[in-house]
Amino acid sequence: MPKVFIKTYGCQMNERDSEQVARTFAENGYTLTPREQEADAILINTCSVRDQAEQKALGKMGMMGKYREERAHVVYGFMGCMAQSRGDELFQRVPHLDLVVGTQKYHRVFEYVDQILTRRLRTRMDEVGAEMVTGRVEDEVVKINQDRVISARVVDTAEEEGSQNTIRDHIPRTDRQATAFVSIMQGCNMRCSFCIVPDTRGKERGRPIADIVEEVRHLVDQGVREVTLLGQIVNLYGRTEFPKINGKSPFVQLLEAVHEVDGLHRIRFTSPHPIGYRDDLVAAFTYLPKLCSHIHFPMQSGSDRILKKMRRPYKNEKFLSICEKMKAARPDLAITTDIIVGFPGETEEDFQETVACMKAVGFDNSFIFRYSKRKDTPAAEMEGQLSEQVKEERNQILLRIQEEMTTAKNARLIGTRQQVLCEGPSKSNKSRLSGRTGQNKIVIFDGEAARMTGELLEVQVEDSTGYTLYGTPMIH
Ligand code: SF4
Repeated sequence: MPKVFIKTYGCQMNERDSEQVARTFAENGYTLTPREQEADAILINTCSVRDQAEQKALGKMGMMGKYREERAHVVYGFMGCMAQSRGDELFQRVPHLDLVVGTQKYHRVFEYVDQILTRRLRTRMDEVGAEMVTGRVEDEVVKINQDRVISARVVDTAEEEGSQNTIRDHIPRTDRQATAFVSIMQGCNMRCSFCIVPDTRGKERGRPIADIVEEVRHLVDQGVREVTLLGQIVNLYGRTEFPKINGKSPFVQLLEAVHEVDGLHRIRFTSPHPIGYRDDLVAAFTYLPKLCSHIHFPMQSGSDRILKKMRRPYKNEKFLSICEKMKAARPDLAITTDIIVGFPGETEEDFQETVACMKAVGFDNSFIFRYSKRKDTPAAEMEGQLSEQVKEERNQILLRIQEEMTTAKNARLIGTRQQVLCEGPSKSNKSRLSGRTGQNKIVIFDGEAARMTGELLEVQVEDSTGYTLYGTPMIH
């Protein structure tokens, strides 16, 4: 059985797309391997959110070229956002590359790879026919003809109608899986000046509600108890494709439909945008108890002047008022966010407005990014680019503020009982278990993975190290 190795860079959406690609290989007789050196096909799902992410993928693919010296038939391919934005330019950067597949063609990756691999092995078989004396064909091929292996140079970055509906299957798991990502849409119609997602992921395209509910039902049958609905801008899901019903947006209709799935305990979603974040979505948190008490709500900046330069068409008072309404609707709500620090033209005053906003909302956590230029984005051409030193100074200030807030909030949970969905062995310490509260806080505790994974547990919180809670499950 041929082996495929898939490496993923970037966001949860990339993780989800890679899983769909992996599933296609698995159901066509390939084995998924975590060991790149034994793979017959090597694929990288790329991210373009920052130049650094692209350099990492290029470096990794470059390094893995050495495997062709031993195994000349190996097929190399790039998928995802960098593949979409750079296309066949990548063949110059990586001479051993065979395949470049864009973000609307994940469902074609398998056939492209299989065609190249089959042809390569068949060609070699023919050549070897006359020469082979003993052993396995592949090994024979490697030794005899590697200098004649030609890069296949297949590139497919075209748009494809309905491609969003191809991200729907999951890899059957041997161990119990408590949580899963469900892609509800692809693309984004916004045009934030620092972001290339609209160019790499295309226009917003939503999947039908019935298909998503069917996928969730299937996951629950497999033991999943929590789903995270994924999209670049989830609250605008279906705004151009599906009608409002009784004043409710397609996204709220979707939440209600997923909420009806028996056996599902929890629903999360990421990421919403202040634009289109209306009262029907706020109200949903008052009557859909499976909706977790957490939203990841990107703020990006606390300064209206900078939001304007970012082409985020709202004022911060709108962001703050949504946060207030959400906390009123769900008092134990946790809010986390994304912040870009050091955006071109950001003054000390703008920066202080971001600090004030952080404190006003009291985020439970935030992902803080120093602004970095993205090729072909308007912000990259803007005047007032800040020095790395200023960006880093401001970055450190925000990190300290966030650490103080997170540590204080988590310390207040010591002595309380929290409902935790057990996700299995802890990634940092396999001898212990981990899970998350409804507020998306990680909790570490002792127990039996086979019996507890996928269970909603009552955990007595006994300690906190700032970002992680520790406790003991209450055995009923
Ligand atoms: S909302 Fe803005 S930052 Fe988010 S994906 Fe769309 S363009 Fe990019």
